[in-house]
Amino acid sequence: MTIWNPWHGCHKISPGCANCYVYRRDESIGKDASIVSKTGDYDLPLKKNRYKEFKVTSDDGTVYTCMTSDFFIEDADEWRQGCWDIIRFRQDLSFHIITKRIDRFEKCIPSDWGDGWGNVTISSTCENQDRTDYRLPILLELPIKHKQVICEPILGEINMEKYLSSGLIEHVTCGGESGSDARLCDFRWVQEIRRECIRCGVPFTFKQTGALFLRNGKTYHIDRKDQIPQAQKSGYSYIPGTNSASLISYKLPDRIELFDRLSKSTFRSRFCLSGKDVDTVKQKGFSVIRDHAKDFVKKRLSAENPENDGKQTPMKGHPVFVAQHATASCCRSCLEKWHHIPAGKELTLQEQEYIVDVIMEWIKNNIEI
Ligand code: SF4
Ligand SMILES: [Zn+2]
Repeated sequence: MTIWNPWHGCHKISPGCANCYVYRRDESIGKDASIVSKTGDYDLPLKKNRYKEFKVTSDDGTVYTCMTSDFFIEDADEWRQGCWDIIRFRQDLSFHIITKRIDRFEKCIPSDWGDGWGNVTISSTCENQDRTDYRLPILLELPIKHKQVICEPILGEINMEKYLSSGLIEHVTCGGESGSDARLCDFRWVQEIRRECIRCGVPFTFKQTGALFLRNGKTYHIDRKDQIPQAQKSGYSYIPGTNSASLISYKLPDRIELFDRLSKSTFRSRFCLSGKDVDTVKQKGFSVIRDHAKDFVKKRLSAENPENDGKQTPMKGHPVFVAQHATASCCRSCLEKWHHIPAGKELTLQEQEYIVDVIMEWIKNNIEI
């Protein structure tokens, strides 16, 4: 990876900017980060060594461009064309530009941009729902060959499935905020975006926990050096088709505590067996119903990314379907939220057995033979 900062300095325009690391770093050395100026590295990708070879080569990996400013900031309108010329010239390098100003993109592209350049990836930052709903519709419409989304620092719950389902977003990265004034990163927000990525087949990276991390009702203060390793260790990044989540360690809920929580949920406790469901159970007997449950769980839930996830369990028509909704074992999202079984992995036989046990326990509790 190479970092190319053709200019330095920026203006805060978004909630995600509040604790901007460019400002923090500049303040610590008495520099004014709001002054945008060209750097000595403006032409870095053209610089050569004493053997007249480019200093930056494709072996160095992606060239992250403009990491101490915003590539599309107004102050740099005069200088940007020169950067495009460099990017066009260095076809052998992949440039990645991360911006909070995707709304300026169209005004800032070179005349021969066409439908995008293959060596340029543009990432739009989306730190909350409001900025997501503003920026992603713009990103989706733009002529860009490689589009990504970065939710960092994530500041609240974000739903972006309607944008991800377009198939135009290649990757989503999520992470918490660092620094002494860091705002909270709730792991549930990370999980929610990850589940949406799984359903849409989009690779997802959980990059860092941030300094203030909430998980399972507990807030953790995480040391700078541990923020990236801890996120990596969690296993919550996702690459479609790799069953990568099978390495996540988690604990199934205590059964008594689970049923207690379910009974307190207005939505879950609303489900009850109809007269017809009761008759079905009575006629067929528990062991046949258990076989049906086994079959449904295997066919509709056990794949890494089940078809129609979230909609695969009818609300009625079989006692097992009703029990699945009542016990939150209707889809992979509910299994993750209520039973801690990570989405994005194939269910093991033990997990399938556990789910069937829960379903049967609920049916038995709701019927008398
Ligand atoms: S856009 Fe990026 S670099 Fe600019 S102030 Fe905001 S966080 Fe900092
Ligand atoms: Zn569900």
